[in-house]
Amino acid sequence: MQQRQRVQMQYLERCTQKGLVIIYTGDGKGKTTAALGMVLRSLGHGYRVAVVQFIKGAWEPAERRVLEHWSDQIRWHALGEGFTWETQDWERDRQCAQNAWQVACEYLRNPNYYLTVLDEVNVALRLGYLEVEQVLRELQQKPAHTHVVLTGRGAPPALIDYADLVTEMTLLKHPFRSQGIKAQPGIEY
Ligand code: ATP
Ligand code: MG
Repeated sequence: MQQRQRVQMQYLERCTQKGLVIIYTGDGKGKTTAALGMVLRSLGHGYRVAVVQFIKGAWEPAERRVLEHWSDQIRWHALGEGFTWETQDWERDRQCAQNAWQVACEYLRNPNYYLTVLDEVNVALRLGYLEVEQVLRELQQKPAHTHVVLTGRGAPPALIDYADLVTEMTLLKHPFRSQGIKAQPGIEY
């Protein structure tokens, strides 16, 4: 036991800190809420945080209303257009995602933003609205101490390769699918 503790202590002493590239992907629920959990933690430590939403959902997220009470620490941009699978105009949606990316870049380059959440950016990549190379280029150049979370289903393999922390939410059950239960406040939005 003591030997194990000693090995663990030695390991911890060698560990350093580093700004992380974090991905939440997969078909199961919990990607955006996991990212917002990190936002809460970061705000609690007094850090500045930015959230850029690449895809706007059907509902106004209540989290945004709550987090706006921390307006000196948080910036929140809802830049997506409607639901992507209802798109009428691919080129317009691509332009919208590219504009969101430009906003995201301002935070990614700013050393004062401890955490930046790029919500549903993986979906924008999958739909071809953004190029994975342009995202990787920016991640490679970001300040060393800042963290970034990229959420959304279908994260591209090159992004997964580059990231430091990747969690895939696995769908085992969802009440909408199995019981036809619709979205409920506090649980979905
Ligand atoms: P959450 O925002 O609750 O953390 P998420 O970010 O993992 O979920 P998305 O992939 O962004 O989920 O899906 C958007 C919406 O669809 C959310 O409101 C979510 O609750 C809902 N949803 C997530 N997974 C499923 C599923 N397997 N079937 C039906 N609806 C789902
Ligand atoms: Mg989500």
